[in-house]
Amino acid sequence: MNCSICNGDGIYYDDHVSQGSHGQLKCCLCKVDCFCGGRYPYRYWDDDHNNRWCPCWSLRQRLRRVNQLFDDTGLDESYRWKFFDDLSPNFPDGQPRPGAEGAIRIAEKYLITPRIPERGLFLYGNNKEGKALLGAIIFNTLMLRFQKPGRFIETTAWLDALRDSFDPDNQWSKKTCEIFDPPCEWPIAMIGNLAMKKETDWAKETLYQLIDNRYANLRFTIVTTNLPLEAVSKLCRGRIFLLLREMCQFVEMNKIYY
Ligand SMILES: [Zn+2]
Ligand SMILES: [Zn+2]
Repeated sequence: MNCSICNGDGIYYDDHVSQGSHGQLKCCLCKVDCFCGGRYPYRYWDDDHNNRWCPCWSLRQRLRRVNQLFDDTGLDESYRWKFFDDLSPNFPDGQPRPGAEGAIRIAEKYLITPRIPERGLFLYGNNKEGKALLGAIIFNTLMLRFQKPGRFIETTAWLDALRDSFDPDNQWSKKTCEIFDPPCEWPIAMIGNLAMKKETDWAKETLYQLIDNRYANLRFTIVTTNLPLEAVSKLCRGRIFLLLREMCQFVEMNKIYY
């Protein structure tokens, strides 16, 4: 039977806000003893007056790494600490929230998945907040559960950075491969704002290459878009749509109110 606090992962998110605007990640001591009280440098005196490393030491190191993963996601601050409990089935006045059950059912699957899924998620429809929230909750949940890097890729900004990298006069720009390659490799990624109406063929093709790379490597990818499905189906002469159909579950967010 798994621990009801950390689900056996050793680290959990405590949503109690003691300072700042969000809760914090914490170690769960269901599997290790702690004699140091959680105080750095995590050492204690044993009964024979030897100063020893506390058994919690490696878990505290892991917590530090997971905190760093969350710092590095690139997710907007307002979505960075969203987890399953933020999918409230009701509005603040107690009225039921239309579509909440569907969103909760989708998110629940990711709380119990035994590994990072290969099949991604494509969230579309005109509910911008809802897509970002549901996507972020699943993204954060998987990062916390599997303690692997996840990144948010804002399509327009990413393409702009790639364009800058081609400019020989721009000495501040990273190399093209430094911008293109890592997003193909991140174990968990969320591609936000797939809104390519005014983009060039080059941009669409580049985005296709990114998604195709992630698909070929079975990397879990969440994609959100405000475009109607019909517009998505025409991107890159239909190739992006076909790819997304293969690699993602499609979820329409029009009737889900968050
Ligand atoms: Zn636990
Ligand atoms: Zn300890």
